[in-house]
Amino acid sequence: MDSMNEECGVFGVYKNDDFIEAADAVFFGLYALQHRGQESAGIAISRNGRIDNYKDMGLVAEVFKGDRMEEFYGAKIAVGHVRYSTTGRSAVTNAQPLVVSYKSGTLALTHNGNLINASGLRTELEEDGAIFQTTIDTEVIANLIARQANEGIIESIIKTMDRLKGSYAMTVMTKDKLIGVRDPLGNRPLSLGRINESYILASETAAFDAIDAEYVRDIKPGEIIEISEAGIKSYMAKPSEKTALCIFEYVYFARPDSYIEGVSVYGAREKAGALLAKRFPVEADIVSGVPDSALPAAMGYAEESGIIYKKALAKNRYIGRTFIQPQQYMRERGVKIKLNALRRNVEGKRVILIDDSIVRGTTSKKIVEMLRNAGAKEVHMRISSPPVISPCYFGIDTASHEQLIGAKNSVEAIRKLIGADSLAYLSAEDLLETAKEGGLDFCSGCFTREYPMDVEHEMGKGNKLILEQNGQ
Ligand code: AMP
Repeated sequence: MDSMNEECGVFGVYKNDDFIEAADAVFFGLYALQHRGQESAGIAISRNGRIDNYKDMGLVAEVFKGDRMEEFYGAKIAVGHVRYSTTGRSAVTNAQPLVVSYKSGTLALTHNGNLINASGLRTELEEDGAIFQTTIDTEVIANLIARQANEGIIESIIKTMDRLKGSYAMTVMTKDKLIGVRDPLGNRPLSLGRINESYILASETAAFDAIDAEYVRDIKPGEIIEISEAGIKSYMAKPSEKTALCIFEYVYFARPDSYIEGVSVYGAREKAGALLAKRFPVEADIVSGVPDSALPAAMGYAEESGIIYKKALAKNRYIGRTFIQPQQYMRERGVKIKLNALRRNVEGKRVILIDDSIVRGTTSKKIVEMLRNAGAKEVHMRISSPPVISPCYFGIDTASHEQLIGAKNSVEAIRKLIGADSLAYLSAEDLLETAKEGGLDFCSGCFTREYPMDVEHEMGKGNKLILEQNGQ
């Protein structure tokens, strides 16, 4: 099913003065969120009561090149989306924003996350005559909203939320409103920003910095924010005692310069590195990190251990997050193109190498080999999160069960497989400590197999297959 494992970034702007051009804001905002999805990009705008949109496969700067953005100038409201999906077709029909017309008008939706009951909802809607044009969960959400349209948009979103199980950080644009929605678990981040009189919604606060907007606050789990001519209104639509913010956002996914629930992503990673040094010290000459996501943890390790930080790997700047090339041989080649050992710094040295995670083990294995070929005397891997032992059902692509090296192997077996002299992982307990100031609880299902919902039950029959394919 195509909608599994989506990683996305969402952005929205409601313009209230001439200080900004909404189209420019959404373009630069999406640019800042590019790391959240590199497969397709799209923007929808509302101008003079009309909604227009454009989306295509590719990076933001490729999709919106030339004077494409100028066509969007003068917009009052704009929403944008970057998407990455792994399974199934990555087709432009599945790109977002999803723009749909229904009896009360037109809606543009952008969604980050994954519904675990999408398949059941889709079947139910189809049995009732609904026709689907895409395979994304977002269309299920759009259908549910449209069906309750008589009640007004906010009421219909609230009713829709009653039916949704899983993760969703969304923007919904009508011709005169920008609406932000965060799922009751708060699984995916969504923040509110402001620039002069205009409001911004973004998956990550780094996108505010990119357009000189100030951070106002995070949208609360279960909250709907409605921005319109009447100003800004908040509805605690689905308050829940239980929250489950994705810990992997802090580990790998989010930008280090973002703050989630007020907690610096960089800071959380640095702390994870320091804890690793405390728990798993080893004598060595240098500490290094796998660029870029593991650098803050490596700095934390170096500082705590007193061992000097040196760059062991050079990274090709013109390469994105290549980890997920569909075929394994491409993935392996990808690592070599992306990273190379810095012989000058590692030759004859005992190296502690920090990475933020081991998923399939492809990267670690290649890197250890590279460092050895470049003359490293010893390579000690330290991972600033626990072994990934289970897939994510809430929107992060961490591969299927049988591809996860941590699912079937002990730490010692993994050490052998990747060829390191030693290997140690941060515990889940320590990891959760690194971001606890945010006040939310976490989903750490990929590390613990403990999900905030009964995944198998909620995914229902339609998705049994996926669970089986994933070796569950
Ligand atoms: P692997 O080679 O499969 O073990 O992947 C681990 C490497 O990919 C680490 O260097 C991580 O920083 C990075 N990584 C971890 N999770 C993801 C993800 N969901 N998407 C892309 N890269 C990832």
